[in-house]
Amino acid sequence: IDSSDNHELILKERQLYIGKNLSISYTKKVKIDKGALQYLYDDQGNTFLDCVNNVSHVGHCHPTVVKAMQKQIATLNTNTRYLNDNIIKYAKELTALLPKELAVCYFTNSGSEANDLAIRMSRHFTKQKDVIVLDHAYHGTSTTAIEMSPYKFDGKGGFGKMPYIHKAQNPDMYRGEFKYRDAEAGEKYAKDVDRIIESLATESKKPAAFICETLLGVGGQIALPPNYLKEVYSKVRNAGGICIADEVQVGFGRVGEKFWGFELQDVVPDIVVLGKPIGNGHPLAAVVTTREIADAFNNGMEYFNTFGGNPVSMATGLAVLQVIEEEELQKNALEVGNYLVNRLAELKPNYDIIGDVRGNGLFVGVELVRDRITLEPAVPEIDTIVEKMKERGFFISTDGPLYNVLKIKPPIIFSKQNADEFVDNLNVVLGEL
Ligand code: PMP
Repeated sequence: IDSSDNHELILKERQLYIGKNLSISYTKKVKIDKGALQYLYDDQGNTFLDCVNNVSHVGHCHPTVVKAMQKQIATLNTNTRYLNDNIIKYAKELTALLPKELAVCYFTNSGSEANDLAIRMSRHFTKQKDVIVLDHAYHGTSTTAIEMSPYKFDGKGGFGKMPYIHKAQNPDMYRGEFKYRDAEAGEKYAKDVDRIIESLATESKKPAAFICETLLGVGGQIALPPNYLKEVYSKVRNAGGICIADEVQVGFGRVGEKFWGFELQDVVPDIVVLGKPIGNGHPLAAVVTTREIADAFNNGMEYFNTFGGNPVSMATGLAVLQVIEEEELQKNALEVGNYLVNRLAELKPNYDIIGDVRGNGLFVGVELVRDRITLEPAVPEIDTIVEKMKERGFFISTDGPLYNVLKIKPPIIFSKQNADEFVDNLNVVLGEL
């Protein structure tokens, strides 16, 4: 059978054997056979520049990571009930990269599971149940994580908002109520959290937690306004709640200027949730918290996680940190990210469809609109752009509540030459629209 028949067959069998709502990209599907650093290779001999996979953080199949995993899996892989050096070594290295308050680690297998655990800890600590989330946010696919995710519970097939969940305004300075030009936008958006805290107080309740990403991914590739988290964290803490930073998409040097997204806002969360890039594609995630919160969680119920923190995952995590440091990838994310954002911004005067170009490091969004005044989203034009870029060998994707933001978050080894190739091709595709 030739390749195209093979695709038909895979799709058919996928429909038969796999849940039909398992997400799949592109109208004309691709079958990727191999990956190497920022490149992916399909079964037809085509090469793609991966401009969107923020999981393969240090590059697909990075040899240092692969070797570390191979070595450990050939030596031992078991659960955490035996003494093992790797988990201690990794916890030490990870916490050394975090503010000193964030000192105790719990390892899980996915970001969803880690967010779930973080919420559970906040409820133990505060003896409260209510959680404040940002509108349009996504925090994962477990039952609790879905309850924290307006992107899911408000969307198709969602069960709606649970009474103990409260949505605060998405602090979007392009499309939201308070714009870039408003120097007080951060403080103004933060006020929406007062509204929720006050309304809880009328029922003699307090928030257990406030959870948000430190740059908003599904919310639309949005950097938070200055002072936003400082204000919100102080309001939430004064009300007795704890502050959870979901760094699943943005952590580990991607934002360039800092290692963690929350550092851009000059705050220290009470719990930080890590995932995706932490294992470069290996299923690993973590919750890191203060000793006080960890002690409260140690309430007699054992914490056991069959796979979480196993020696192979820990060896993988260690190798990822090693590569980030050895290859100075945070610095690369900053330099290449700035270069990419500047080159994208240079396209703006030529194409009215480009409403906003924004980003920190290699976490970049380009919001597409049909009209720069009404901000009508350029959908489905954006899908045409994504498909055409794929035909030219570039993988990107869309995000945002209106699905009109081009999402660009490549492995952070992305080079200036990659940025040039990408922008030059985007220029051609926009010209063809
Ligand atoms: N939090 C954020 C911000 C995410 O983007 C995601 C995944 N897209 C998750 C949590 C859930 O992570 P996972 O898919 O590893 O469960």
